[in-house]
Amino acid sequence: MIVALSGGIGGAKLALGLAHVHDPAELLIVANTGDDFTHLGLAISPDIDTLLYTLAGLDNPDLGWGRRDETWAAMETLEALGGETWFRLGDRDLALHLARTEMLRAGHTLAAVTDRLRRRLGVTPRILPASDDPVRTRLDTDQGELDFQEYFVHRRCVPAVRAIAFAGAATARPLPAVIDAIATAEAVVICPSNPFISIDPILAVPGLRAALAATPAPVVAVSPLIGGRAVKGPTAKMMSELGLPVTAGAVAAHYADLLDFFVADPDDAAALAEIDASVVAAPTLMRSLADKQALARIVLAAAGVPVLSRTGG
Ligand code: GDP
Repeated sequence: MIVALSGGIGGAKLALGLAHVHDPAELLIVANTGDDFTHLGLAISPDIDTLLYTLAGLDNPDLGWGRRDETWAAMETLEALGGETWFRLGDRDLALHLARTEMLRAGHTLAAVTDRLRRRLGVTPRILPASDDPVRTRLDTDQGELDFQEYFVHRRCVPAVRAIAFAGAATARPLPAVIDAIATAEAVVICPSNPFISIDPILAVPGLRAALAATPAPVVAVSPLIGGRAVKGPTAKMMSELGLPVTAGAVAAHYADLLDFFVADPDDAAALAEIDASVVAAPTLMRSLADKQALARIVLAAAGVPVLSRTGG
């Protein structure tokens, strides 16, 4: 089993690559739930959904979120009625939130609901939260304490971040299936996701960090920064606001003791100071499916895991 820790877009791209170069039935993706929130009465899990849509081939490459072939009748109607429309929910996307909300309301766990949605969408790799209990990212900013989506979507990451907290993390119970999978994995991959708001909420669940530190499996992280810049999103801005150098090295240092291998673009890798992990220099920008597969092969090769020979896509 390969276990991959992932946020949304950056993580999902590598997860898709991994699903193509390794038996997808032997891939477990642990998804960030720090971005989850309740909106318009609906339980929304943005990173789980990005993974579901990406792995099902339903993702919207133009928007970078939501589904392709989307329509917006519900949002337009909501707007006409004076409802809240700052968080855009397409009609098809909305249906997924309705299904999730109803199953959660009926008493199913987030893990069970996610698993059912995944099967319905024909996705083979398993996707699980680190915990069924809510873990919610809160940002202390120059505009006050903000819930994640208030910061990320409503205020478009404009506020300067001073500190980040994960409400509920201290008492969240880790999913035994996740802890067991990490303990017995062939390799653990930390995807090129935002370390502070996509990976840290996973690591904040009690037992997760210890499981990663204890696993005999190689732990491989991929840098989400290329040439000191984020491909998308606030990673670089956030690092400078937190007083960190905006470098792949600072990302590696952030994961520090957990890593065995760190994959970064050749220029970044060359500039890495001594870190307590083996550095793998490789192109990490994933535009095409071929890029995603190539990076997935490099990650698995570093971990000593055999890859499928079929090329696909
Ligand atoms: P979010 O939850 O949708 O913001 O997604 P993630 O946290 O998974 O992804 C955001 C991070 O992914 C950003 O730091 C990006 O720089 C990084 N990222 C996105 N695409 C790529 C890529 O093709 N290669 C690499 N190395 N990083 C990427």
